[in-house]
Amino acid sequence: MSPQTNPAANTGLSFELTKEQQDLRARVHEFAQQRITPVAADMYRTGEYPVEIIQAMGREGFFGLSFPEEYGGSGGGLLELCLAIEEVGRADQSLGITLESSTGLGAAPIARWGTPEQKERWLPDLLTGQKVAGFGLTEPGGGSDTVGMKTRAELDGDEWVINGSKSWIGNAGSPITSHCTVTAVTGTQPDGRPEITTIIVPAGTPGFEPQERNDLVGWRTIDNRNLVFRDCRVPVSHTLGERGQGLRNFLGALDGGRVAIAALAVGMIQGCLDECLRYAGEREAFGRAIGTYQGISFKIADMAVRAQLARDAVWRAAWLADQGRPYSQEAYIAKLFASEAAATTAREAVQVFGGKGFSNESLVGRFYRDAKILEIGEGTSEVQRMLIGRLLGLPKPA
Ligand SMILES: Cc1cc2nc3c(=O)[nH]c(=O)nc-3n(C[C@H](O)[C@H](O)[C@H](O)COP(=O)(O)OP(=O)(O)OC[C@H]3O[C@@H](n4cnc5c(N)ncnc54)[C@H](O)[C@@H]3O)c2cc1C
Repeated sequence: MSPQTNPAANTGLSFELTKEQQDLRARVHEFAQQRITPVAADMYRTGEYPVEIIQAMGREGFFGLSFPEEYGGSGGGLLELCLAIEEVGRADQSLGITLESSTGLGAAPIARWGTPEQKERWLPDLLTGQKVAGFGLTEPGGGSDTVGMKTRAELDGDEWVINGSKSWIGNAGSPITSHCTVTAVTGTQPDGRPEITTIIVPAGTPGFEPQERNDLVGWRTIDNRNLVFRDCRVPVSHTLGERGQGLRNFLGALDGGRVAIAALAVGMIQGCLDECLRYAGEREAFGRAIGTYQGISFKIADMAVRAQLARDAVWRAAWLADQGRPYSQEAYIAKLFASEAAATTAREAVQVFGGKGFSNESLVGRFYRDAKILEIGEGTSEVQRMLIGRLLGLPKPA
């Protein structure tokens, strides 16, 4: 049945991007080709934090895509941000995650729960990419079990005094970090559970001590550190959202972050597909292009299947979020499927490239190292499955 005669054609189900969204995608793609791809291998080798490119992405408006215009954003939604993250991540995953984390974990909680003063102070620099920010939840004792955190904040007059430590925190100690928002135990709830509050800690506050950058397997050029808080004092006006609502707020912000991580994974899958298509046509073995062998062409066909399904999952979740509709389950599904699909795809892409794929000079080699963290950050695959199971009505452990 042709679309013209299909009575269901006008039900509102559409996979067409608007003209503006298509233009945005093309613009980010061009930026990535011109500014990121030529230097990506070198950046990976040196590990240098790429301040200049991050700020150039900021001037292009990539950090403000999903935020209101009054603070320097462009008034789009999660879908626009996902389109940009896919294109940046297709060229370099470290820059893709810096874009994701500074928007999703740095700016979004302030845009959502901040007071007018907090928004005024922190958002303009973040949405124009001149500064980055992080969110510290994970602790040495564990990231999945968020309620078990040990970092404490106690009120002393009109100041919080924070003591404790955080692990693996992004954008918390870079030369352009504006602040890090942290969760801390601030008391006990009537039911005996810890009261957890979110507090904004400006960079340079005495007692806020970001450690050396972590030496990571992948994402080689991100700013990622462990943090120590020693009698770190910040005004009580730096409380983000209501006291005691810290965990709920953070977990709410994570849903959007999970969709954005899935978009980063789609960028990796698409990048692998593009590289393998090119290489399989050029590289010869036994007198024929390797792409003529089914053993190789089937791998590449499977990459195209994963790219399409993962992208569909991301667009669906982002579209629901932008409609203001519930999208938690779609976010978990997109994150779980896209990250595992990316890890499989990167492994297969290295296989297509043979020895060259095992070099950091090759994009697929760098993707192979970058892939694993997609199944861990912003909730592991096990945690996504656990959350999907709960939404399906499966019982919680006692
Ligand atoms: C590069 C990088 C960047 C990061 N950025 C940030 C950041 O910016 N901010 C931040 O707060 N955190 C950040 N993290 C931390 C990340 O979110 C955690 O590593 C992740 O949530 C897992 O926590 P964990 O490492 O403590 O593992 P654990 O929680 O100790 O889990 C260990 C293993 O046990 C499994 N497991 C745990 N509980 C269950 C369960 N109930 N059922 C089944 N399996 C379970 C996990 O899935 C995992 O396989 C980052 C981590 C890395 C490596």
